Amino acid sequence: KTVAVAIDGPAGAGKSSTARQVALELGMTYIDTGAMYRALTWLALEKEVSTRDEEGLHRLLKNMALELVTGTGTDRVIVDGTDVTEAIREPRVTAEVSYTAVHEKIRQAMVEKQRELASQGSVVMDGRDIGTAVLPDAELKFYLTASVEERAARRFAEEKKKGIPSELEQLKKEIAERDRIDSEREFAPLTKAEDAEEVDTTAMEFEEVVQFLINRIGS
Ligand code: C5P
Repeated sequence: KTVAVAIDGPAGAGKSSTARQVALELGMTYIDTGAMYRALTWLALEKEVSTRDEEGLHRLLKNMALELVTGTGTDRVIVDGTDVTEAIREPRVTAEVSYTAVHEKIRQAMVEKQRELASQGSVVMDGRDIGTAVLPDAELKFYLTASVEERAARRFAEEKKKGIPSELEQLKKEIAERDRIDSEREFAPLTKAEDAEEVDTTAMEFEEVVQFLINRIGS
């Protein structure tokens, strides 16, 4: 029997690092749906297609070869043969991605791909609409949150470790703005599924969150 775990929540709540680690420890496949919207946004920037142009984006998406290489903690994202794993995390992509994600046609196509990926085995999938729209029948649903101050502080620490110069106040603004666009959009807005368990990670260590989810999944 296959199992699906859905993890949603606002930007920077630690969904992807948590989901990746849980999947690794439980021998499940991790699927990062945000990376899919980021990959399309990266391609739109390359091809100079506006993220406000639904038809233009849809044409790009139809012809885009997107590969999510998962496993052994070394996930890669490949677009048309180019490894964009790092590029899709750049601020220029982060600043645009929520505009890509508002369009109905884009979301429909992404959801179709995501369901296909989930049908191939046991998965931990993270995003904004997994529990509400992509996998409404997922066995387990979590909604990970943390205060915006804490989320910005974590992002700040990560960027510092990577040697990327950033400003705490600026990160806080960007996170809040992305949450606003994601929550206010018409199609599959960011919201907790009724049957999802909310986990406020503000005062939790990374390992604590991972263990909390693993315990839930195991019981
Ligand atoms: O998770 P991540 O921060 O990489 O997601 C980037 C953006 O992609 C989100 O801010 C949101 O606009 C969009 N997204 C979405 N639905 C998902 C995953 C991501 O709309 N399932």
